[in-house]
Amino acid sequence: MYFNEKIEKMERDDLDALVEERIHYTIKYASEHSPFYRKWFIDNGIKPSEVRTHEDLRELPIISGRTMRENQPPDSADFLFRSIDWDAIFTLHETSGTSGTPKTFFLTWEDWERYAQKYARIFISQGFRAGDRVVVCASYGMNVGANTMTLAARDIGITIIPEGKCTFPGRVIKFYKPTGLVGNVFKLLHLARQLKEEKILPHESGVRRLVVGGESFSDESRAYLAEIWGCEVYNTYGSTEGTMCGECTDMNGLHVPEDLVHLDIYDPGLSDFVNDGECGRMVLTTLLPVGAKCGTLLLNYDTEDTTVIITRDRCNCGRTHMKIMNPQRESETFWVEGVSFNRVDVERGVFQRGNMDYLTGEYEAFLYGGDDEGETIMRVSLECFDKKKCDWKAVEENFLKAFFQYKPLLAKAYEDEEFNIIFNFTGPKGLELHRIKGRPRRIVDRR
Ligand SMILES: [Zn+2]
Repeated sequence: MYFNEKIEKMERDDLDALVEERIHYTIKYASEHSPFYRKWFIDNGIKPSEVRTHEDLRELPIISGRTMRENQPPDSADFLFRSIDWDAIFTLHETSGTSGTPKTFFLTWEDWERYAQKYARIFISQGFRAGDRVVVCASYGMNVGANTMTLAARDIGITIIPEGKCTFPGRVIKFYKPTGLVGNVFKLLHLARQLKEEKILPHESGVRRLVVGGESFSDESRAYLAEIWGCEVYNTYGSTEGTMCGECTDMNGLHVPEDLVHLDIYDPGLSDFVNDGECGRMVLTTLLPVGAKCGTLLLNYDTEDTTVIITRDRCNCGRTHMKIMNPQRESETFWVEGVSFNRVDVERGVFQRGNMDYLTGEYEAFLYGGDDEGETIMRVSLECFDKKKCDWKAVEENFLKAFFQYKPLLAKAYEDEEFNIIFNFTGPKGLELHRIKGRPRRIVDRR
């Protein structure tokens, strides 16, 4: 039932005490081993020994991805976040930075073991057991996700099939009978279509669980994926920075491994914590067990993702670690007429069940300024199985109803023609994003 029962079911008071002990040790480690933080403590007049609780972290500056880039080549002569000698570094990694130079992360073997434990806990919490066979469709490379899951499987008795992409041949399903797949929503939908062409029905494939991650998604797209595959779809959120959070079988929020990574949720101005239940920016701090060593650690690091702490109470699954909502990227939040919406809101409009007889689910949108001052136009392009057979009017109505459901002010701007939405329907592979290499953005603001 649990990978590390003592830790995962620890009473709240004991867990909080463990977190504070680790904050204190991690701060000490940073001041002694990280050239960046050693200078940061001096520059900001902070006495490391006085930082003991998570409230104390609020008094410290917040750093960002930009801070990391400024403290590594080419901006700096050396990697100032590297916090251990080269001979102790097992691997190094880069984040797929959307802006400029990727950030470099250094991992010791101990770091790998802690990362793997986070994923092992997630796999178990999602019902995976010894004997399961899991195809990892996420890519193996300079990011850590696929490799960490592979390592996590070792201690559970799961067999990993490391395809590294979601376009593997149908024989993998036939020969090895995988019970789980790890990928993202769109790739797993695509795989289902590909398998059908090979006369393999996804819901008869023997796959019992899908683990999706890599980007936030709407409940509607998850529900559609679950329907196509006829199985449970579990959400995970992982990053090279070390946040590996996963949904348990309770399927109501993602458990945060509170003993290994500390999350504070801040207001938009990053000046204070928000209350549980309120949306805010995720700021993370690595937590090291007392005596542990580490290749790269982060204190008060702005992830630029937003989330809500749902609860710190014991979950129905027995775990006590807090649960958060599926984080959304701040860079995928857009403002129109003083109202914000996220890419996930657009995705909700696309994946309305009534649309899915016509649409593949692939979409992209562009925001433009209109002819009139202050006017915004959103052009939404939707990929159809067959453009000619698509009921455009029904799709548009479904989209608008869902998109505006929780955004009355935006709906008013639409009625007043200050915000216009134009729909564009394409056939297979007709979207611009299909022509872009790497990880294209689904919504591009061209205002
Ligand atoms: Zn749970």
